[in-house]
Amino acid sequence: MRIPIVAGNWKMNTTAASCAELCDGIRKGVDGISGVEKVVCPPFPFLFIARDRLKGSSVKVGAQNVHWAERGAYTGAVSHMMLAGVVEYVIIGHSERRAYHGDTDETVNRRLVAALAAGLKPIFCVGETESEREAGRTEEVLRRQVRLGLKGINVPEGFVIAYEPVWAIGTGKAATGPMANEAIGLIRAEVARLSGAAVAQSVRILYGGSVTPDNVAEFASQPEIDGGLVGGASLNADSFVSLVRQTAEVAAAKP
Ligand code: PEP
Repeated sequence: MRIPIVAGNWKMNTTAASCAELCDGIRKGVDGISGVEKVVCPPFPFLFIARDRLKGSSVKVGAQNVHWAERGAYTGAVSHMMLAGVVEYVIIGHSERRAYHGDTDETVNRRLVAALAAGLKPIFCVGETESEREAGRTEEVLRRQVRLGLKGINVPEGFVIAYEPVWAIGTGKAATGPMANEAIGLIRAEVARLSGAAVAQSVRILYGGSVTPDNVAEFASQPEIDGGLVGGASLNADSFVSLVRQTAEVAAAKP
């Protein structure tokens, strides 16, 4: 059975003080909830604050990006060697990194290779744009992103992928459960083609895109969906706790 994950992508939000407060609220609310992995991904400067506030709790910490080089002349970048030992997870290939910071399938692949080598657990993001969906290219785009992103990688059991349709991120316009389930089925099929059925069955594939406490159960109840990568709704402790609680309840009732 795949353990679902609810991961909060805080993006470029919070201050040192509000990061600490959010960590405390989340910790208090989710620590008694089992059967779901909980992850928060604050901005780089606050990773140590989050790590300290969440020490000894069930909430894990992730970063929002990682560079593939160990060190060197890469102003503004943070290497996998720097993150190893500080965080457990790292988001890689988020559509905002692809759209605004020049990430390509090739650089996403380099980040994934480096993160895995450093013992980090990637949350590898893929997803089609609105125009690609409207042009009937969703399957082709998702298969390409998965194939090139995972090039040369021995996919470990329990690896995490997030299906995030670009048109649903931060727009309030979420996919429907069946729509996300279908896309995630395609992603799993591509992983199976590349790495075999057993690995594909173990890979956790999350849905992301305007997930809220009002729609999370619809996604969590889909057979292919193993949790969520959540932006806006992860910035409030009560809302994040509700996402975790509902995901746990729905997962416990899944066949
Ligand atoms: C995200 O940032 O990965 C995301 C899904 O954002 P939101 O939940 O706000 O749409």
